[in-house]
Amino acid sequence: MPDSDRLYYSDPFLRTFTATVSAVREPSTAEPGSLWQTCLDRSAFYPTSGGQPFDTGLLRTLSAGGAHINIPVDQVEEDDAGIVWHFLQQPLAAGTQVEGHIDWTRRFDHMQQHTGQHLLSAVFARELQAHTVSFHLGEKSSTIDLATPALAHHSLERVERIANEVIGDNRPVTISYASRAEAEAMLARGELRKLPDREGAIRVIEIADLDRNACGGTHVRATGQIGGLLIRRIEKVSRGVRVEFVCGLRAVRAARADAAILTEAAGLLSSGAPELPTLIKQMLADTKTAAKERHRLRDELAAYQAAEIVAEAAVENGIRFIVHGWKDRDHDFVKLLASRATAAAASTAVFLRAEDTEPTRVFLARSSDLKFNCGHILKDALSALGLRGGGSPDLAQGEVPAKDEPALRAAVTEAIHRAIAAS
Ligand SMILES: [Zn+2]
Repeated sequence: MPDSDRLYYSDPFLRTFTATVSAVREPSTAEPGSLWQTCLDRSAFYPTSGGQPFDTGLLRTLSAGGAHINIPVDQVEEDDAGIVWHFLQQPLAAGTQVEGHIDWTRRFDHMQQHTGQHLLSAVFARELQAHTVSFHLGEKSSTIDLATPALAHHSLERVERIANEVIGDNRPVTISYASRAEAEAMLARGELRKLPDREGAIRVIEIADLDRNACGGTHVRATGQIGGLLIRRIEKVSRGVRVEFVCGLRAVRAARADAAILTEAAGLLSSGAPELPTLIKQMLADTKTAAKERHRLRDELAAYQAAEIVAEAAVENGIRFIVHGWKDRDHDFVKLLASRATAAAASTAVFLRAEDTEPTRVFLARSSDLKFNCGHILKDALSALGLRGGGSPDLAQGEVPAKDEPALRAAVTEAIHRAIAAS
């Protein structure tokens, strides 16, 4: 089957065209939601290739009654044989005359990002000898991977500035063709940045006085149409360094979004955006100091409250057994109380509850002079209720639904009294 005439090769600014359906593939029954694939004798739709995503748009045809029928083009792909297929939600018979309309906002944005990539790759190669090994054009931003171990911040700023100066120069971006042999000779003389392994005529894209690169993609007419280039961030990847960038309106949108975040953050701190880093550093230091202080106070409070419950507890058979619960204390604090209370006085055992959450968290602890095993006692009492928990001989913990807590408390109390009687 002959390939369709790719109209974007000679005129990347062509937005509408007429064509005839030359072949049709039915949706695959094996893949739910798969679409009708249509081949046209000529098309300005760009198929996914070379890191640039496909075009969308519509094919317009006439019904038997003469009304316009618009069929959206959801996707455009090139198969292994180089045939371009337009993916449609409804069929078009072979021989049908259609008018193609490219979604120009999407395509022009792609042309800006893609030409911006040629420019950025050329400046990285010229200024830092950092060569591009791959390119990806994404929904929000684009990336190039550079074969270089690292990039200094000042080098990035310089590359970005030079790229924007070339945009300001509005240098022509032109298309020419060379034979494979001519292209190889240009590559050998260093006059061509990259040459893919492809037979036949080579399409060469030139940015005047800067770069020549073999490419089958769509590009703007002059660098001014790239509209500006902003490097967003860099990231270390296995092959080198990944540089994320945006061009044209994407750069404006990205800068606008950053400005909105900075304005909001500055408003929260009643400051100007330039003061934010200093203020945030100060706040982080203050938070650290406050956390230390809170920790110290919590420790002191636990020691004080532990001493209080120990002092109030009755001594039976030479042993204090304290049972207590709190609704307004978190379980870490209650655990701290259990440790502090059993360390505060010899022959002390505690069964403490944190009731701030459901299920209730319980702690069973004892002083080191007592010999019964808190882990075993709590584990047995919990498992009688179908629950799990346990711990060491001197401190154990578990969780119990609030409705079952009284039953657990009774079982633990009975077991502790039995252990005391046996000792
Ligand atoms: Zn290109």
